[in-house]
Amino acid sequence: MGILEVKGVGKRFGGLQALGDVNLSVKDQSVHAIIGPNGAGKSTLLNCLVGRLIPDTGSVMFDGQSVLGRKPHEINQMGISRVFQTPEIFADLTVMENVLIPCFAKRDGAFRMHAFETVANESELNDTAETILADVNMLEKRHMLASSLSRGDKRRLEMAMCLVQRPRLLLLDEPTAGMARADTNNTIDLLKEIHEKRDITMAIIEHDMHVVFSLADRITVLAQGTPLVEDTPENIKGHPKVREAYLGE
Ligand code: ADP
Ligand code: MG
Repeated sequence: MGILEVKGVGKRFGGLQALGDVNLSVKDQSVHAIIGPNGAGKSTLLNCLVGRLIPDTGSVMFDGQSVLGRKPHEINQMGISRVFQTPEIFADLTVMENVLIPCFAKRDGAFRMHAFETVANESELNDTAETILADVNMLEKRHMLASSLSRGDKRRLEMAMCLVQRPRLLLLDEPTAGMARADTNNTIDLLKEIHEKRDITMAIIEHDMHVVFSLADRITVLAQGTPLVEDTPENIKGHPKVREAYLGE
């Protein structure tokens, strides 16, 4: 049993069957990549996992509990965090303040800003935030305004904001989309570090095969809304159907 079990998930948009019959099992502490051509249904699948979309059919179980019918923030509370394609940070706040916001949200069970007024144990939250910032190599920059950070550091900050919620599963939708090679490699290193330091399970939707083969220990190939094959990176590389359908050979 995986920490995430997707069974028979289908999703239709009008006349378009975006997801057919998706079965996916993500093992605890693995890095599982979901690859496939544009329009294959990768983002739709991810949206079904985080409560942004409700599938028409099938089940999604996280750690033995169904996520279907729950609101995005409830699914987040269950331990699933999503990293966005564009970092979602508060530009006018400092790095530290950005990381403290989800700390409060986690403690108070909801995303409520007035939590700032009812701080019971501020130093404990500060310690947590600083530990996480150290993990993503951002501790020295904690007093900087988020707006002044480089793109790579914004990505690190966003990652820290996810990690303070202590997720068990991190979902990433094309985390290196639009990045130059150097930034891509930095992101790969960052994700590797996080995976090693925090033993977090990751499910990554990714187009860039360099990223996929650098990170994943398991790969599912999605084509036209249906998984084509699931295997190790080594086997995926040599798989004739994959080479034909995805690598364009
Ligand atoms: P991918 O992320 O693999 O590129 P998507 O999941 O974004 O693919 O899209 C799968 C298919 O569903 C595409 O044909 C896309 O145009 C369609 N689609 C995605 N979201 C919607 C939506 N909200 N309404 C209608 N069609 C959509
Ligand atoms: Mg997509």
